[in-house]
Amino acid sequence: MGADMLRKHVIGNWKMNGSATMLAEVLGGLRVPSYDCDVTICVPYPYLAQASTLLEGSACQLGGQNVCRYDDGAFTGEVSAKMLREFGCALVIIGHSERRLHFAEDDACVAEKFDRALADGLYPVVCVGETLAERDAGGAEEKISKQLAWLRGRIVAGCRVEQFCVAYEPVWAIGTGRTASAEQVEAMHRWIRDCLGVPVLVLYGGSVKASNAAELMAIPGVDGVLVGGASLDAEAFTGICRAASN
Ligand code: PEP
Repeated sequence: MGADMLRKHVIGNWKMNGSATMLAEVLGGLRVPSYDCDVTICVPYPYLAQASTLLEGSACQLGGQNVCRYDDGAFTGEVSAKMLREFGCALVIIGHSERRLHFAEDDACVAEKFDRALADGLYPVVCVGETLAERDAGGAEEKISKQLAWLRGRIVAGCRVEQFCVAYEPVWAIGTGRTASAEQVEAMHRWIRDCLGVPVLVLYGGSVKASNAAELMAIPGVDGVLVGGASLDAEAFTGICRAASN
């Protein structure tokens, strides 16, 4: 991925789903020579080696779903950015709302992971998003600007816009079948760029399917999509990649 504002980006996030058998089935179905968009699939760590073999010769690249904030050492259960690189990952998702919710990751932690990822040559995809309660209370923009404050600091300190992207994922749209409206998405993507003060790539995530992908990617300011559930199905995911290529 990079700062190509014309080419769309599709990132699949398998979360803690799948099996070796399913990996072969789904990734086998993704072995197309090329899409007219950038495609990345983030499988659970144990499947990275098998995935990189299955994707040989494919245009689809690999990504990590998470990364340790530390370089290496006595951090039982963690996986480093260098290890992700060694297993062929080009990017890593950080700050996903499920990590924030279930693993108490705060913005300081997300910022450390961002620094680690960049230092070791990974492209961080920084997830931000408000809860339904925050949106209903009129606080969606404020929540997003708070989540982006550290990133603004990195940009001021010299971090370049082509080194990372942001994924806007309203928490209430993740895995719920509900997507944000075109107005909500367009306004929030604009807000994110205004907060950061640079023309950063911004992806949308939240119940993206083959049936709504084209519509979502036609919204001004949407540079691609982060896909959870639909990335577990080769046909659905391929449909989304096709929509991103139009
Ligand atoms: C996600 O996990 O980032 C996500 C957007 O999930 P889903 O597509 O299932 O809503």
